Amino acid sequence: CGIVGYVGPRTPSDRPLEVTLQGLARLEYRGYDSAGVAVVSPDGLTTRKRAGKLANLQQSLEEAALPTATAALGHTRWATHGGPTDVNAHPHVSEDGMLAVIHNGIIENFSALKRELVDAGVRFTSETDTEVVAHLLARAQADSGDLTAAMLAVTARLEGAFTLLAVHAGQHGTVVGARRNSPLVVGLGDGENFLGSDVAAFISGTTHAMEIGQDQVVTITADDVRVVDADGAPVEGRRYTVDWDA
Ligand code: GLU
Repeated sequence: CGIVGYVGPRTPSDRPLEVTLQGLARLEYRGYDSAGVAVVSPDGLTTRKRAGKLANLQQSLEEAALPTATAALGHTRWATHGGPTDVNAHPHVSEDGMLAVIHNGIIENFSALKRELVDAGVRFTSETDTEVVAHLLARAQADSGDLTAAMLAVTARLEGAFTLLAVHAGQHGTVVGARRNSPLVVGLGDGENFLGSDVAAFISGTTHAMEIGQDQVVTITADDVRVVDADGAPVEGRRYTVDWDA
């Protein structure tokens, strides 16, 4: 039910995770049943997810810290497919452990996509509609070597409503997002950039925002934001300043 993405400098080393958890806390008002994070660095991808309150996830992170990161994803889930368990919580990870995805919404055609993947030998670990996206993205990423191209190829096959964010260990300084019938906003920082399902996700970091339109795909790094339409053609996103008093 809430989505946060962040890319920034590697120092201070705890900033990506800190920003992400802060964003999730600001999105708690929307309601959720589980929470999870992914962090990615030159050393690889690590995820942690827990059913229940954000406090459960935070406690687990205190007990065993995640590696320092350049980019991070955070998710609060409102289960639609598969019960609220640790396994069904997001992020969902590809079989090779290189790619993680978080999702708000519903993939209406997930059964057909799942059948196709199972027939091709993919092993599923969760009961979610979202997991098909992790496996499809990993395969598309292997074809093109590029997460943005993979996101364009995969979202063309999806039906339903989604805000999706993905990271890949081979592109550790990048977060790619996509949306259809579900919101996604960019937060423009100084040497860092943010993504959120709503501006509350990054309001402690920046008040400079940019809209992502229907069926557009956005790629953020620490100092760059690129938006393309469903055909991969560059788009100029509308920028605005968030008027926030809270
Ligand atoms: N349909 C997905 C699931 O059940 C995402 C739910 C959400 O929007 O949080 O895991």
